[in-house]
Amino acid sequence: MAAAWNIQELDVIRWGEERGILKNSTAMAQAIKTLEEVTELISALHRKDAAEVKDAYGDILVTLILGADLAGTTLLECLESAYAQIKHRKGYLREDGVFVKEEA
Ligand SMILES: [Mg+2]
Repeated sequence: MAAAWNIQELDVIRWGEERGILKNSTAMAQAIKTLEEVTELISALHRKDAAEVKDAYGDILVTLILGADLAGTTLLECLESAYAQIKHRKGYLREDGVFVKEEA
């Protein structure tokens, strides 16, 4: 296992081990769960239900942590890789919601 993001990520992985999820699930099954949780997030945002928004973000993170572990990586590793790719980008989001890319 690569470096974990924080102690909560390790707790979730331990929980996933104890529940048999890491032994019997797959990265694909967790990705589908992530998608389900994202639809719950969109629904909660649409309803402006702050408690359910928080709950959905948490559930999404749990599915991502377990899915990343099943895929042989960690969220920290993925986040470091993503940030290394975006950190020099100089684009910006316009008021109309369009992201304007500028080459570094
Ligand atoms: Mg949920």
